[in-house]
Amino acid sequence: MVVAIDGPAGSGKSSTAKAVAAKLGAVYLDTGAMYRAVTLKALRLGVPYTDDEALSAVTRETEMIFEGAPPDIRIVMDGEDVSAAIRSDEVTKNVSDYCARDAVRTSLVDQQRKIAAGHTVVCEGRDICTVVFPNADIKIYMTASVEERAKRRQKDFAAMGINKSLKELIADIETRDRKDSTRSNSPLTKAEGAVEMDTTGMTLDEQIDFIVALTKM
Ligand code: C5P
Repeated sequence: MVVAIDGPAGSGKSSTAKAVAAKLGAVYLDTGAMYRAVTLKALRLGVPYTDDEALSAVTRETEMIFEGAPPDIRIVMDGEDVSAAIRSDEVTKNVSDYCARDAVRTSLVDQQRKIAAGHTVVCEGRDICTVVFPNADIKIYMTASVEERAKRRQKDFAAMGINKSLKELIADIETRDRKDSTRSNSPLTKAEGAVEMDTTGMTLDEQIDFIVALTKM
């Protein structure tokens, strides 16, 4: 069984998907983490997002492994645990530019399908229902108001000891939303047949129960 979840930044995908995967005993696949890892590596190597040839090589030559079981999943890139490094401000600000490139997407989509093959999987991202698993058993498009999403991000940052104003976070989220939904390759959009789930005002438990109930129908 494949549970596919798409939605914009901060809509609640990660925490909900992890918990659902744990409940179902499923593999949890955070595709955003993969795009972030490639972005981190390219930034470290000084490869600009416009250099398709170099970017294609970076993507192909990067080994990415998910370790642990949901909800405690770590991403290991070329032997280094980059779970925290991929959440940096610099990566977050650049990831939408890097991941819009065909050079990155073709290879990562292929890897995502290989990781999921033969497993029950809960997979989240921007193009999961539209491109990666268009035949998923359950397709969800998760949204929330931009204010709510910024508040959630503010909490995440506070947990890392970083203070951010809501105004700055709203601006960052709106920029990323615009880039992710207007790019030519696999833009973020609600797939045909996807269940829309507005998580504004929903608790995490309500979100988890909603999806688990769909898997039992
Ligand atoms: O989900 P997360 O916010 O970690 O994703 C980081 C970025 O990776 C997104 O803003 C988007 O640009 C990109 N992404 C993507 N396709 C996916 C998952 C993430 O383009 N399936």
